[in-house]
Amino acid sequence: MSDAAMKLVVVGAAGRMGQALIRMVHEIEGVVLHAAVGRPGSPFIGKDAGEIAGLGPNGILIGDDPLAAFLHADGVLDFTTPATTNEFAALAAQARIVHIIGTTGCSVEDERKISAASRHARIVKSGNMGLGVNLLSVLVEQAARALDPADWDIEVLEMHHKRKVDAPSGTALLLGEAAAKGRGIDLSTHSVRVRDGHTGPREAGTIGFATLRGGSVIGEHSVIFAGEGERVSMAHSAGDRSIFARGAVKAALWARDRKPGLYSMLDVLGLSQ
Ligand code: NAP
Repeated sequence: MSDAAMKLVVVGAAGRMGQALIRMVHEIEGVVLHAAVGRPGSPFIGKDAGEIAGLGPNGILIGDDPLAAFLHADGVLDFTTPATTNEFAALAAQARIVHIIGTTGCSVEDERKISAASRHARIVKSGNMGLGVNLLSVLVEQAARALDPADWDIEVLEMHHKRKVDAPSGTALLLGEAAAKGRGIDLSTHSVRVRDGHTGPREAGTIGFATLRGGSVIGEHSVIFAGEGERVSMAHSAGDRSIFARGAVKAALWARDRKPGLYSMLDVLGLSQ
């Protein structure tokens, strides 16, 4: 393992998570901010990344050339958009650097491209980079395995701030996947993502999702196991984006000496079963 600080690029540097990542890279030992990248045409291009993140000037100006930024870096922290993440996955694989992906809302085709890039790159991708939700997902999987689908319905409820553009959240889907894994079913064919109008009674064995949006909520998730006459609820509340940023930096350090592949936060946290 190299003793030199790991050189990290933050993409989407002026975004909500981008700023939290820049602050976290500054805080954690063993990593250093190598470059910051924004969307071409963004008013933040040319601005000091430290200043935008509220740290004070750090001399790293937000650029719009990801390839130049990745060239001498060791890893990239990416919480942007699915199209951008796809583009960066190919570039990170070309540069042979670690790619930490927090971006949510990726399509099946996006996931396929990311998986193809992981033949050459060390990628850690998760809909939630925090310890709490990943631990919760292990508990959800166990509960789903233990409770008979004929008697217990599973519903995933989430709330996020009003600027979030994808639904259900990556975390809600991660928790849904955990429940589906516990039940030994495929989430894509057993989920009810929206209900509206005369839907008829609930189909046994499905996993339902409900989405709330409003205000500045960072992330609230509950998984409800509803049986006849009783209910078990498991919940997580995120109070600060730093929990995701901390997890992303931890993932980068973890992935540094791994073989190319597509890893999850459960691998990073040692919670894979
Ligand atoms: P945000 O504030 O909109 O930030 C996204 C940033 O990416 C913006 O600054 C945007 O710039 C930038 N961007 C867009 N296209 C780009 C390009 N081609 N090159 C470089 N930068 C580009 O959103 P956010 O709240 O930070 O969330 C970002 C993503 O992370 C979302 O998918 C969200 O769901 C996800 N997220 C994941 C976790 C997790 O733990 N996995 C936690 C929180 C959020 P413009 O504004 O100029 O377009």
